[in-house]
Amino acid sequence: MEYKLQKPVHGTLGTEKYKCVIEWRNGEFIADEPVKTGGQDTGPDPFTLLLSSLVSCTLVTLRMYIERKGWDIPVIKVNANLFQTKKDDELTTFIDRDITFPEGLEVEKKDRLLEIAQQCPISKILENTVKVRSYVYHDEDVDKKLKYTNGDITVVWKPELCKHSGRCVTQLPGVFNLKTRPWVTMTGADSETIKAQVEKCPTGALSWVKNDNSESSTPSSQDAG
Ligand code: SF4
Repeated sequence: MEYKLQKPVHGTLGTEKYKCVIEWRNGEFIADEPVKTGGQDTGPDPFTLLLSSLVSCTLVTLRMYIERKGWDIPVIKVNANLFQTKKDDELTTFIDRDITFPEGLEVEKKDRLLEIAQQCPISKILENTVKVRSYVYHDEDVDKKLKYTNGDITVVWKPELCKHSGRCVTQLPGVFNLKTRPWVTMTGADSETIKAQVEKCPTGALSWVKNDNSESSTPSSQDAG
């Protein structure tokens, strides 16, 4: 299974309330909390970011469809907001998305564009099953370590730290394969590919070291993902 993003969204927050630096593929921006929740409002809050994702996805999806159809619709506007209800401990989130086209657009076109908006990729994510899998990176030493080498680098696997997220086996099955013994085949890819995959291990179960000890993976290298 491949991730949608080649480079994960990466966030860092120090002690300055609550200025999060969010790094993305082509730069960075600030996210923050509103003043009423203790932040400084220097950037969008998490709810705003979530809704921005839906708004931008809706706009782009509609524009692409309009371009394909060759329709003359110079501007599309989308508002989004949300509210939540709780009943018997079950939280339900309602997202209201309002779409406006220039005056005079035919009803049939508006109806079709509403259908298209409902099919945008972020709508599909929000309206289908979402599971958030969370891991914490460990760099502590543990007793049990299994080592695999190709003569150039050695991959170290600490089974106690492996949470079986499946990231390695699904993304580089030629090297990490639970059906083979040993489960790591160091001839299955070149050293650079193996190193890049090892650095995506979310728990610190996998690490690599150059056999001449000149380089090794570090906890921060998980960002390379
Ligand atoms: S990526 Fe890391 S935690 Fe996930 S299965 Fe592989 S070794 Fe285990």
